[in-house]
Amino acid sequence: MALKTDFCCFSGVEIYPGKGVGFVRAESQIYSNLSFQDNARATFPSPSLRNWRSHLKYDSRILCMALQQQTDRHKVAVKPLELEDAKEPPLNLYKPKEPYTATIVSVERIVGPKAPGETCHIVIDHGGNVPYWEGQSYGVIPPGENPKKPGAPHNVRLYSIASTRYGDSFDGKTGSLCVRRAVYYDPETGKEDPSKKGVCSNFLCDSKPGEKIQLTGPSGKVMLLPDDPKATHIMIATGTGVAPFRGYLRRMFMESVPTYQFRGLAWLFLGVANSDSLLYDDEFTTYLRDHPDNFRYDRALSREQKNKSGGKMYVQDKIEEYSDEIFKLLDGGAHIYFCGLKGMMPGIQDTLKRVAEQRGENWEEKLSQLRKNKQWHVEVY
Ligand code: FAD
Repeated sequence: MALKTDFCCFSGVEIYPGKGVGFVRAESQIYSNLSFQDNARATFPSPSLRNWRSHLKYDSRILCMALQQQTDRHKVAVKPLELEDAKEPPLNLYKPKEPYTATIVSVERIVGPKAPGETCHIVIDHGGNVPYWEGQSYGVIPPGENPKKPGAPHNVRLYSIASTRYGDSFDGKTGSLCVRRAVYYDPETGKEDPSKKGVCSNFLCDSKPGEKIQLTGPSGKVMLLPDDPKATHIMIATGTGVAPFRGYLRRMFMESVPTYQFRGLAWLFLGVANSDSLLYDDEFTTYLRDHPDNFRYDRALSREQKNKSGGKMYVQDKIEEYSDEIFKLLDGGAHIYFCGLKGMMPGIQDTLKRVAEQRGENWEEKLSQLRKNKQWHVEVY
């Protein structure tokens, strides 16, 4: 028989009704027999429903320790922890004139066969020499000559880093990118024209393990995570715009970093064309299963789902659906981040403005306040 708790708090462990951490079961009278069924779900012995509060009180310390162990067991140790020490993020350690020569570790197509276009996850070995913080970007100089400046190299292309500072190998030596291959379709014939394909994205998606790559950066401060581990983060992504958020979420839920133990709320809205185009969905659904009190994940699949007016479901339709909660969270100091193609912003801004007006609020004033409070973070390209 399952027993759901009210809200309780023991030595810093919060217990919410009916969700993950605080889900307590009445099973046996042997207190030492405390066990866990799955992540963050405690099987707690209690002889009767009437007494469960006192049992929680007496055993709270065991429960807390065990819950902590349970959470940590699912987290990955990272190194070197000195990467936490700096007070400021690394910036422009390598410039276009003197880029760092890094090595491709892997290139993996991460969308299904029905996705329009191709997106790849690319792991790059920088040997620990081009450190970065979550939310920053790397620059890539593709090989070859700049067609606009004969004899000169190509211009730098920026890519949001999709891993944490520890990289996908958790040792601080790699950085990952999430790259969509830019292709060109002739508007008249509708056929692909390979002579006009994107230079850098195709170079990256076609590269092979062991190949060299010229890196600049890291750059960008707009998308850095605030220090507060209790903060609320509302993340709005379209397509590869999910890259910085993958980094944030790995830091929050996958890695064991003693000085950053996330206890806030992270809410990801991801807009893509269809379910085959979802990016890092396995990681995100695992966080949802393991951290239901700290993570929310909403997907807008424009070619598969309909909005309430029967049109395509875009990320702004999801924002509208949850606008009351989003506005309340913003009023409470939440950070909101936008990342993806430039074209996403007008629709989102229109929706936010409309919702603000329905609530009797002035959107321009609210927006300038959010900017002033450093709650508003935009990186679109
Ligand atoms: P380019 O060679 O620069 O070409 C640009 C476009 O023009 C392509 O679509 C190409 O097909 C088209 N084109 C080429 N020739 C012609 C022609 N003759 N006529 C008409 N069209 C033509 N991208 C990501 O995929 N992932 C990210 O995480 C990411 N993060 C970014 C972060 C920031 C801060 C910024 C500014 C950009 C980011 N980008 C990201 C975009 C990225 O920097 C590149 O702009 C993108 O990959 C295209 O570069 P490319 O070299 O492949 O295309």
